[in-house]
Formats: sequence, structure tokens, C-alpha cells
Amino acid sequence: MKKNKVLLVANWKMNPDTYEKADKLFQESVHVASQAKKVKTVLCIPYPWLTDFSHKHQKVVAFGGQDASIEQAGSFTGEVSPKMLTSSGVEYVIIGHSERRALGETDILIAQKVIASLKAGLKVILCLGEKSRDDHGEYLMFLREQIINSLGKIQKRYLKKLIIAYEPVWAIGGGDDEAMKPTDLHEISIFIKKILVEMYGQDSGTSIPILYGGSVSPDNAKDLINLGEVQGLLVGHLSLNSKKFSELLKNIE
Ligand code: PEP
Repeated sequence: MKKNKVLLVANWKMNPDTYEKADKLFQESVHVASQAKKVKTVLCIPYPWLTDFSHKHQKVVAFGGQDASIEQAGSFTGEVSPKMLTSSGVEYVIIGHSERRALGETDILIAQKVIASLKAGLKVILCLGEKSRDDHGEYLMFLREQIINSLGKIQKRYLKKLIIAYEPVWAIGGGDDEAMKPTDLHEISIFIKKILVEMYGQDSGTSIPILYGGSVSPDNAKDLINLGEVQGLLVGHLSLNSKKFSELLKNIE
């Protein structure tokens, strides 16, 4: 059976701060990604440059938005619709990132965004994760509810385009030591799969890819994937450093 490629999602967030720097980072990232045969790289670039870059290099990397509206068009100042993204060559979108949840996005709104994006044909990377951990396992209840509520009522036919990114908020934005332990990640990836199986049945539930995000580095990436049993990684600050990004890709390969 053909093995699926590891998915590496680079979330640039609101970086870098000028077109010139973004263009340089983009050229370097594409060069690095072109050498990785077992990894599919998705660049989630800020909107002002996303379509410009996606028209230049559609084949080497895939492109993702960092958020999308629940509407496809209309009087919604400042919003970007899922349909606009698909018609501009964008394949993926991140929905429900913890930084957007921190701005007030609820599970209900996130579920609406997930459905609108799937209906427009985007592959949705739904971000989930607890803010902190406790000794009584309450974070597991939190996670369970977050998964169920953020997924809402997705029809089974859309599940093929759904990806879950488990990103514990406490692990985001740190150094190597702050990432989750691969063995702990394994427990969580089983936990998430179990919930997905309860929701969608064995075949569909187990085929939804799970990614990990939170202080991924070139040193911990391989163990997180192999021991954590996840199908890929979502990286934030590391994706802004093309040297580190290159090391990360080489280590995953
Ligand atoms: C993120 O914010 O989604 C993320 C994974 O960040 P970092 O890699 O910087 O921890």
C-alpha cells in the first residue's frame, strides 16, 4: 500500500512584516520543500501575499489560509471567504487556531467556519487543544467537548477533507523543552481517534489525519510523528527561519 506523505503545515501568522521579507522567505521555503520527497508542505501565508505566491509556485508546495469567513460573499468588511480562497488556488485553511479562539471565536462559530470552508472545497485544518492540564483529567473532558462542538454536524461526505491539528495551548511558542512528550502525544492521538470513531464510525473516524503543533523543532519532530503516531506537524515560529525549516524537513525525511 502506498504510504501517505507526512503533512507539514507552516503557519506564518502575521509575519514577516514586509513584502520583500515575505518573498525571500517564500523562495527559501519553496527551495527547501522541493527537496523533501516524503513530506507535503503547506504554507499558510498572510492574505496580502497568499494569491500572488500561490500563482507563482502551485506545484512545489500547497497553500493555506489562516482563517475564513462563514459567508461565501457579501457585505462583510474585512472578511475573506472560503470561495475566494479556492478560486485563488488555495487548497487548505486553518480554522479555530488558539490565537483566534483567544480573540473570542467560539466552538459554534468555528463549526460554522469549518462547514462553510468544506462546502467551498477547502481542506480544513481544525485546531484544537486544552489551555492547561490538571491532575484529574478534566482537560480530557474539555478536549472532548471542544472536538464535538467545533465539528458541529458535518456530513460524512466532507470528512475526507478534514484534518485535526492538536495544539495544546501551553505548548505553543516555546523552545524544544516545551513541546509535548511523544508518548503523551500518543495517548492523546488515540483519545482523539476514539472520539472521531464514536462520531463517524470506524472507517471514517480512523481515516481523519491528526497533526501535532506546539514548539516543534528539528530535534523533536521525528519522535513526535513516529512515537506520537500523528500524520504530520503544524509549525509556527520555526517556519519563519528557513535554515531551521530546512533542518526540520531533513529530519522528518
Ligand atoms: C502555532 O501557533 O500553531 C504553533 C504551532 O506555534 P509554534 O510552532 O511557534 O509553537
